Amino acid sequence: MPIKYMPPKYQTLLALIAVGLLGLFIYSITSLQTALLYTTAALVILVLWISFKLTDGWLNPNEADLLRHDQSKVTARIDRYRLSLSALPEGVVLFRKGHTIEWCNPAAETHLGIRLANHLGLPLKSVITDPKIIDYLEKGDYARPIKVHSHEPGRELLLSAVVADQTHFIIVTRDITEQHRIDSMRKDFVANVSHELRTPLTVVTGFLDMILNGPEIDQKTLHDQLELMQEEANRMQNLVNDLLALSRLENKDDTAEDEPEIVSMTRLVPGLAEDGIALSRGRHLINTQITTDKAILGHVDEIRSACLNLVTNAVRYTPDGGKILISWRYEPETQSCIYSVKDNGIGIAQEDIPRLTERFYRVDKSRSREKGGTGLGLAIVKHVAIRNGCQLKIESELGKGSTFSLIFPKNITLD
Ligand code: ADP
Repeated sequence: MPIKYMPPKYQTLLALIAVGLLGLFIYSITSLQTALLYTTAALVILVLWISFKLTDGWLNPNEADLLRHDQSKVTARIDRYRLSLSALPEGVVLFRKGHTIEWCNPAAETHLGIRLANHLGLPLKSVITDPKIIDYLEKGDYARPIKVHSHEPGRELLLSAVVADQTHFIIVTRDITEQHRIDSMRKDFVANVSHELRTPLTVVTGFLDMILNGPEIDQKTLHDQLELMQEEANRMQNLVNDLLALSRLENKDDTAEDEPEIVSMTRLVPGLAEDGIALSRGRHLINTQITTDKAILGHVDEIRSACLNLVTNAVRYTPDGGKILISWRYEPETQSCIYSVKDNGIGIAQEDIPRLTERFYRVDKSRSREKGGTGLGLAIVKHVAIRNGCQLKIESELGKGSTFSLIFPKNITLD
């Protein structure tokens, strides 16, 4: 509990009353002379005590009072600043000229391996071993921050120093590991998109060059070349459509949630089978199996596109004559509803399964390209699954076939 500060005039009054009472008490048990003697001694002690209390720079009582009041306000303010700095995700270290540590927040302890309780007053050099940081601090050119390794393994920091006043400096550290990861993902993504577009563009421009500047060609050759160009143009269109679909999903993540609606899977599944049959053009046997009439809550366009993606892949990666089963069923044990597409196609090796939903990851790049794949289909499916509260499950055996399922938990299924 904080001790309440009592102004000197009240303290003095209280002391005088105490001296008076002491005098009366001594008088009651001894003589007047003895009482006067002790009271005088007590008064002398009281005067000495008051003058001792007022020797703070020979201040008058009001000034001393104000100074103490100001000091306690400053201390409270510093405590508040320290508390706020302690909550920051950035590391902050306050150190003196000569680089001795005066204070740091918990984030700085994690970033730089400082233990304030042990390292207070020690030179930074004896605590921080990274020569890059020491060199930066000693050079004194703090115009640009530097990138350094964090004390936490595998993490990176941006470290800068600022001169606070003539005797104090501040180091600020920020963990940029996540930022770095996003930046390199973005760079990879741009490189992949450019690469995916370059191949069909090279084919189209090559043919156009041949048609415009090459020797005369007959109608049949021209027709064949135009067909190949159309194929490449379609490939580019598919890629742009998938990129737009992904970008739309990501933008939706950033905005307020749009309301989910009732999606009737018993109506959706036959339509998906029809699309699969059209794509297969009679090369596969496509069947449906609907054993529940439960519906789900979700975004109908997104769910249709994810479900269709799984059908398209089954057609793409199942050799002619293969079988594809699209089903919608209820699983009583988990109380969930499952949409699944099962094929007896080429299958996938176990080590590839965890990477299938990465953007542009393809087990066999040329096969996917040949079948019109963009490498973005399953990335879209996974994104849709996350946004709609369901789960994508992939089971496969190389050479035997695959089953891709979307599992809709109890809370988003409707009777
Ligand atoms: P793509 O456009 O290449 O089909 P996806 O993201 O849809 O891209 O799928 C990624 C990869 O997963 C495909 O390139 C393919 O190697 C593999 N794959 C997807 N579905 C199947 C399936 N039903 N059978 C075998 N392999 C599949």
